[in-house]
Amino acid sequence: MGLFEGKKGLIFGVANKNSIAWGIAQALHEEGAELGFSYAGEILRKRVEPLAESVNSRFVEECDVTQDEAIDEVFRRAQARFGSLDFLVHAVAFAPSEDLSARFSDTSRNGFKIALDVSCYSLIALAKRARDVMPNGGSILTLTYFGAEKVTPGYNVMGVAKAALEASVRYLAWDLGPQRIRVNAISAGPIKTLAASGVSGFRKSLHYVGSVAPLGNVTQENIGDAARFLLGDWATSITGEVLYVDGGYNIMGALDPAKMDADPSTD
Ligand code: NAP
Repeated sequence: MGLFEGKKGLIFGVANKNSIAWGIAQALHEEGAELGFSYAGEILRKRVEPLAESVNSRFVEECDVTQDEAIDEVFRRAQARFGSLDFLVHAVAFAPSEDLSARFSDTSRNGFKIALDVSCYSLIALAKRARDVMPNGGSILTLTYFGAEKVTPGYNVMGVAKAALEASVRYLAWDLGPQRIRVNAISAGPIKTLAASGVSGFRKSLHYVGSVAPLGNVTQENIGDAARFLLGDWATSITGEVLYVDGGYNIMGALDPAKMDADPSTD
């Protein structure tokens, strides 16, 4: 019997088969979870529907997370379909490309608002609706990145949004704890996805992280495994945490000299 047998949940943020949310969906499906999906815009429906079908899900609803009415509607439909929910995955982020490529000090006011709204406030907005359909407690998971705590050139305003997201995880964990609803984040190492390709220099950064991290680069499956843990019953006393699933990159303070190009002048 799977770890998620009898458990039902919503997943926000599948854009295609490379999405981190899709890695999580597959991991939960393998454990018997019943899944519902929400995607950003009509254009994605034809990509998300077949993926949902492959994990026996017929709940596929459009939702722009910047629109409160759209969020209300998804939860109304989810309640009608599932009754109650046990988990929620928030794997949504966006910042205007010009704000990711400009100097950080040139970040526009509007770009800042959009990045924080889509990438951070949306977690609070989803948690508010989720708490009303989790009468038996539940687990909420979001995705963050190391650029929230250390400067990652090119990540720019998204780093600020992720810092706010991580703080929101802690405040939500405090607020929802008495209802036995846990809120955690996975800080994932870089993975080639649609969103990641919007970050300037991503390809080089992927290569760099892979060479510094003790375990090398991570995969969608690695994130799925950790999500299974944090969302499931093995983590019933863990909340407000940011779990690194980054091959160990965050523990490193310098590149291993053995991996540097040889420089005879320094001998
Ligand atoms: P992805 O496949 O492109 O997923 C990002 C999702 O966010 C897409 O489905 C996107 O839809 C959705 N989204 C954007 N604006 C939205 C809106 N207004 N309403 C609803 N959905 C919206 O990329 P991903 O890398 O898997 O990203 C998932 C999460 O992991 C993000 O929070 C990301 O920051 C985080 N993360 C990624 C990495 C990485 O290296 N890939 C590392 C650490 C953390 P559209 O495609 O229609 O915009």
